Amino acid sequence: MVLRRALFWPYIFALLSCSASIGTYAADSVKLQLRWTHQFQFAGYYMALEKGFYDAAGLDVELIEGGPDALTPIEDVLAGNVDFAITGSGVVIERMAGKPVVAIAAIMQTSPIVWISLESSNIRTPHDLAGHRVLIMPPPESAELLIMLEREGLSADSVNIVPTSFDINDIVTGEADAYDGYISNEPYYLEQQGIDYSIINPKDYGINFYSDVLITSEHLANRNPDLVNRFKDASLQGWLYALNNIEETIELIHTKYAPEKTLEHLRFEANTISDLVMTDLVQIGHMNPGRWQFIAQSYRDLNMTSAPVDLNGFLFEPSSSPDYSLAIRVGGLSAALLALASLAILKFRRLSLQLKETNILLSQQTITDQLTQTRNRRGMVQEAETALKLASRNKLPCVFLMLDIDHFKAVNDEYGHQTGDAALIEFARTISAHRRESDIIARVGGEEFAILLIDSSIEDAKELAQQILQDVRDLKIQARNSDDYLSLTTSIGIAAASGSLETFWLNADKALYKAKESGRNTIVIHEP
Ligand code: GH3
Ligand code: MG
Ligand code: MG
Repeated sequence: MVLRRALFWPYIFALLSCSASIGTYAADSVKLQLRWTHQFQFAGYYMALEKGFYDAAGLDVELIEGGPDALTPIEDVLAGNVDFAITGSGVVIERMAGKPVVAIAAIMQTSPIVWISLESSNIRTPHDLAGHRVLIMPPPESAELLIMLEREGLSADSVNIVPTSFDINDIVTGEADAYDGYISNEPYYLEQQGIDYSIINPKDYGINFYSDVLITSEHLANRNPDLVNRFKDASLQGWLYALNNIEETIELIHTKYAPEKTLEHLRFEANTISDLVMTDLVQIGHMNPGRWQFIAQSYRDLNMTSAPVDLNGFLFEPSSSPDYSLAIRVGGLSAALLALASLAILKFRRLSLQLKETNILLSQQTITDQLTQTRNRRGMVQEAETALKLASRNKLPCVFLMLDIDHFKAVNDEYGHQTGDAALIEFARTISAHRRESDIIARVGGEEFAILLIDSSIEDAKELAQQILQDVRDLKIQARNSDDYLSLTTSIGIAAASGSLETFWLNADKALYKAKESGRNTIVIHEP
């Protein structure tokens, strides 16, 4: 009882003391520069506007559509043309170069930026990009793609990188071989035309950067932190609403903002983006200073910046005592009560955040693939390095196998993603069945697995591979939501695991490619 009264009185006091000014307040006008043309990518902002969250926060918000002609969000914010903008994680490079820009929230916990190519061009890994014409956005947009090349040991001049044309059709007409796009958007156009495509996703190569970062100028953040805070909270509230009401949101976007995008297209986008926002793991918009540090260091490693990593002042710190009176002046009593309730919720969220924080750090640092519980790519790289050192000291031969499930896209297309996932789990279990303690098995891509055999000959590997081909063919996987059973085949490339990991990985990849070319469901051994 005592506690309840203690909480209650200050609110009543605040309400009474401010009621005099109701109706005399003009909302703050602010402009938000969107990162691209209207689409689900900005769902939260549309809903914050539509549902009155900006209104209740005393903000009159103008959303400015982006596109090929509006690609300098940082400059626009710094010049004061707009108050807020959405950028990629490359914004940290600009900050380190001394630009007074501040990050407020990261909407996507994982970047949607990928390279898209035609299935028929056989570009599946970063290495396959060598010698090809590959499109990219102006830096620092899409910097994660360049980091992936560097991490995979590809020199910048082995790939013919050219400024983007902003037209996905360029890979269809052959103008270009890979397109720098959003996994949530451009693939849909290709699917619509029945064109098979492949995706090279930095995430599969251990690069996990933030994206769609909401920014403002340090000037505005210092001059009016309360306004920035209100904009942030209302925007995030909009995002929560959008993700919890996808059908309503896509209908609004289709009717009001992007009539040329079909509901189906927007739904496709919404589903992909929901996964990247990861509200089940973290509070929406969450940013971890340690992760920013890691991102900044990655840019340094790539020589995209030589400035020391210094994030002091880069992350927006909300003012500790929010201005309750503002909501009261603007929206009256009910808006004020609403604001108080959301503040209590935000506080509660902040508390549980520390716990969730630990979770995401763990999942980030882990070397296990969550779906199949085998190693992930990073796990393979880490463990292979140690194992190979030991093996070489003891002069033990090692072999590397690359496996790629045949026509796996068709499994998803025919039976759905859930069945696809179940098949991946079964596949991993099957190839792990013959595992000896020293062998390392990893899921290194969507439906690509690798096995490193320590103290084994090529002959041993061939025997194992034949056993795997057979076991995989014998699999009967029950489709979800149907009585059908499906079977799989796989192709396997084998290479001696000597020299550098990159080299024999590439060799096994080449052998795998030949196995695909010669009809799949088969084994090819790399000939040095
Ligand atoms: P190929 O015989 O040439 O290897 O044909 P493919 O269809 O297996 O090859 P491609 O690389 O074009 O397609 C791989 C497909 O794997 C794309 C995607 O549909 C699917 N995939 C990738 N990751 C996952 C995942 O995590 N879950 C599910 N269900 N499917 C995935
Ligand atoms: Mg593949
Ligand atoms: Mg495949």
